[in-house]
Amino acid sequence: MNYLQCDAQSCDHVEDATDYGPHLIGKPCPKCGESLLTQQDFDDAEPMRLMMELLIKAGIASDTGADMKHPVTLDVNQHAGQTTIKIGDKKGGAS
Ligand SMILES: [Zn+2]
Repeated sequence: MNYLQCDAQSCDHVEDATDYGPHLIGKPCPKCGESLLTQQDFDDAEPMRLMMELLIKAGIASDTGADMKHPVTLDVNQHAGQTTIKIGDKKGGAS
C-alpha cells in the first residue's frame, strides 16, 4: 500500500503515498478534487495493510520484491469498497 487511487469514476489519478497513513484521509485529488482516501477505504484497508507489514517483517513478502531469495511482490489496493490483491514474482510480474 504505497499509492492512492482517486475514487472518481472518470478520474484515473494515482498518487504516490509512501507516507500512507490516517493523515491522508480526505486528501483531495489534484485533478478532480475528489477524496483520494475516504475514512471507509482506510478502515477497510487497515487489516490488509497490517497483514502485509507482518509478512514483510517476517521476510515472506516484499513490497518491492528486492533482496528476496524467491521474490514475491504483493500489491494490495483498497478502492471503493473493493480490495484488490495482486501477487506476482519478479520474473513474471503481477498476474
Ligand atoms: Zn481524481
